[in-house]
Amino acid sequence: MHDIPTGLIHHPYAAPAGFSAPQPGVFKASTVIFPSTAAMRARDWKSRAGYTYGLHGTPTTFMLEERLCTLEGGLQCLLVPSGLAAIANVGLALLRTGDEVLIPDNAYGPNKALAASELAAWGIAHACYDPMNPADLRARMTPRTRLVWMEVPGSVTMEFPDLRALVDAAHAGGAVAALDNTWGAGIAFCPFDFGVDISVHALTKYPSGGGDVLMGSIITRDEALHLRIKGTHMRLGLGVGANDAEAVLRALPSLDLRYRAQDRAARHLARWLRSRGEIVAVLHPALDGAPGHAHWRDACGTADAAAGLFSVVFHERHAPADVDRFCDSLRLFKLGYSWGGPISLVVPYDVPSMRHADVAAWPHRGTLVRFSVGLEAVEDLQADLDAALAAL
Ligand SMILES: *Cc1c(COP(=O)(O)O)cnc(C)c1O
Repeated sequence: MHDIPTGLIHHPYAAPAGFSAPQPGVFKASTVIFPSTAAMRARDWKSRAGYTYGLHGTPTTFMLEERLCTLEGGLQCLLVPSGLAAIANVGLALLRTGDEVLIPDNAYGPNKALAASELAAWGIAHACYDPMNPADLRARMTPRTRLVWMEVPGSVTMEFPDLRALVDAAHAGGAVAALDNTWGAGIAFCPFDFGVDISVHALTKYPSGGGDVLMGSIITRDEALHLRIKGTHMRLGLGVGANDAEAVLRALPSLDLRYRAQDRAARHLARWLRSRGEIVAVLHPALDGAPGHAHWRDACGTADAAAGLFSVVFHERHAPADVDRFCDSLRLFKLGYSWGGPISLVVPYDVPSMRHADVAAWPHRGTLVRFSVGLEAVEDLQADLDAALAAL
């Protein structure tokens, strides 16, 4: 080949196979090249025995999917562009007009918002249930209920439910049990030990670990269920970028270390905050007396693990504007959503506005603040909180 532009595209050199290095390679493709028309015609986008198109998988995404199956104890995995896309993909795959989905009232807010807007517009009903009361879930199940979401614990108010009882209630009513497993991250407990059918994970949080990637996964143990969701995944075109997949692959080896370090620091700070008079409740499921602590012990006691995430409720004598000032005066804890990254984060929430008062009454009157603990030295984080409390 003498023509330079053509030679730069169709170059005969092929690097030797067998390259081995600590991190997997990044394969980037929309187009995948077939060796023959016969191979092209025989392509099967559902199979991971080969490659058909970038959207359906590359060595990089297959490798990440396999490692995530190992992490969460599943057999099949789909990657999607965000945790919320994972929730949406599951709902759109499993729900039809006339069906109903049940969502815990303390769930990740956009899950409820999707049900109240798009799903409702397509004639799919939804209701919220009290996750701390499996009898409430049982009572709300109808013959139309096809899907029940669970979240362990609620990621703002941190109540830890009896996951097995919720799964049993969903299955007794003939529904699919889907868990948002972002908090557990595959470290605190194995979601499939509790009988869930689907584990959804915002890889945006601990698996990416950097606050710089948006990605989600949908993990199952049932091939038929996986293929139902995968069909919708393909038709919606929910692919992920190879560089983002690589960023998660790169962060996975330190996942367990980071999760446990952030857990240790968060429990230290949560215990210390319990002694402070400005605060009436510390909501951390691994602490005695926290809502659902016994269920946390049953599910996560063996691993003795929890995400580095907890909330506090300020005494009502501290008006919401004062609590905002507390958040603003923190120096190391930054104002920002998400969690699982190296930087500690703080967000004030108005819980009553996020809840259906008729599902389960919120027992507190003061403002709730959620902390996500990063990887800074815990002494520095404690000093930061101490100074901001003094400024209240
Ligand atoms: C962050 C989060 C999501 C959504 O993940 P994104 O990647 O930000 O869309 C879903 N569920 C829980 C519990 C989360 O914390």
